[in-house]
Amino acid sequence: MRRWSSGHNAAVFIGLACLAGLGLYELSFTNYVHFVTPVAFDRTVSSGALPIRFDEMGDGYFGAPRVGGRKHRGIDLAAAVGTPVRAVWSGRVIKAMDEGKYGEHVRIQHANGLVSIYAHLSRMHVATGRRVRQGAVIGEVGKTGNAAYDTMVSHLHFELVRGDRRLNPTSYVEEGISEEGTAFLRTVVRRYVADAGTALLAFAVRGRPCTAEVQCEE
Ligand SMILES: [Zn+2]
Repeated sequence: MRRWSSGHNAAVFIGLACLAGLGLYELSFTNYVHFVTPVAFDRTVSSGALPIRFDEMGDGYFGAPRVGGRKHRGIDLAAAVGTPVRAVWSGRVIKAMDEGKYGEHVRIQHANGLVSIYAHLSRMHVATGRRVRQGAVIGEVGKTGNAAYDTMVSHLHFELVRGDRRLNPTSYVEEGISEEGTAFLRTVVRRYVADAGTALLAFAVRGRPCTAEVQCEE
């Protein structure tokens, strides 16, 4: 019976495994949905309106007035301290530190050219340089930076930046998906991993048939 050269077989197998691994690695950073909401909220409350912070310190709408004539550069999504904060798209963490008014905050650079910022966190689960996939938990809601006031409702300060311009994230967040979306992401990734694993295993067991192009031996 003619068998495929074991050395060649091993080399091809390793090559294929690397390609599959690379494919899985790249796939895990694909965006599966338009946008994942950075903190989950119940759309059945207030007819689907966003849980925008409103308290005696001010309100959290995009462009809301701030002291010194400044305008609010993001939106404040009211959420309890400790609520998981998720990456809205896949990308690379370009900053994760405790700094100034933002307090503990994470900045992610995305392939679409936008940068997302998540501020006033109580905990950060990622470090600078790390790649994160869409929907991954990158930290927890907190009251760090200029959100430390007792009278200020705990919230996630969220910004979308293109170059030096701040975009209004409202419609993105309204159209985004939250818990059900991240569950969907996990299902898709798990299915892909299972399919690729099965195909790889089948190849390893069967090998490939000898042909004129493929080196074979008796
Ligand atoms: Zn804010």
